[in-house]
Amino acid sequence: MTYLRTKWGRAVWGDSSLIDRMVKVIGIPLDENSSFLRGPARAPAYIREALQCGSGNMCVEDGRDLAGKDMQSRWQDVGDMQLGPMPLAFEHITAGIAALLKDDNEVLSLGGDHSITFPIIRAFAQRYPRLNILHIDAHGDLYDDFEGNPFSHACPFARIMEAGLASRLVQVGIRTANPHQREQARRFGVEVIEMKDWTAALQLRFDGPAYLSLDLDGLDPAHAPGVSHHEPGGLTVREVLHLLQQTQAQWVGADIVELNPARDVNNMTAVVAAKFYKELVAKMLD
Ligand code: MN
Ligand code: MN
Repeated sequence: MTYLRTKWGRAVWGDSSLIDRMVKVIGIPLDENSSFLRGPARAPAYIREALQCGSGNMCVEDGRDLAGKDMQSRWQDVGDMQLGPMPLAFEHITAGIAALLKDDNEVLSLGGDHSITFPIIRAFAQRYPRLNILHIDAHGDLYDDFEGNPFSHACPFARIMEAGLASRLVQVGIRTANPHQREQARRFGVEVIEMKDWTAALQLRFDGPAYLSLDLDGLDPAHAPGVSHHEPGGLTVREVLHLLQQTQAQWVGADIVELNPARDVNNMTAVVAAKFYKELVAKMLD
């Protein structure tokens, strides 16, 4: 027994097993705050099925095998959260994520629509006072409120920024910014890399803990048709993987949101989500 220093510099008293962080994967089946179509509440089961269906292996692109002896004990799918109706659901999400973040675990959340990111980040911000967020999306999700719902899936990053829960927010893939959302981005100091300005040479670097929020509609609908809001002109699967592989960051959490199984074609978007699931688990274990 000795004092040990964790990844984030916190001293703990214990043996080395205490600093073997794990990635916990959890489903958050909530789509009450979707403005257009329901469906994402059913997404976690489809993502898990795509991961386990046997069509591919559990290796990530750098060669690590998530099903291998050294890796399989380092991550765990803990199933779906049990949620009450809104607004109680948000309290359950924040409490559930906070419980998982104990002991330096990292957390990958499977949405759910994008509204879940606000209550998730409330828990992350308690643990990481200076959190960076990389947000991939066709939409800025910065509305002050949307159709009378301040917790709409069109609003999470307005709630996050006005509460001071992130020290830096970088958005990539945006291609729907209207005057209100542009004003909100300015007001909150959001770094927006609009799709029209995107280049494969983009190199991002985050100092300190970083969180990735991946709205699958950031991808082009040709690559990810199983989303509620088709917005043409988006990123390819390869481009998002490239961005993830090029970005320098210490990833502590991520979410994959907005899969709508009712809109999917041959589960191809669920397979895309499962691909990112694997890559993100591996990134968090770096
Ligand atoms: Mn979104
Ligand atoms: Mn979106």
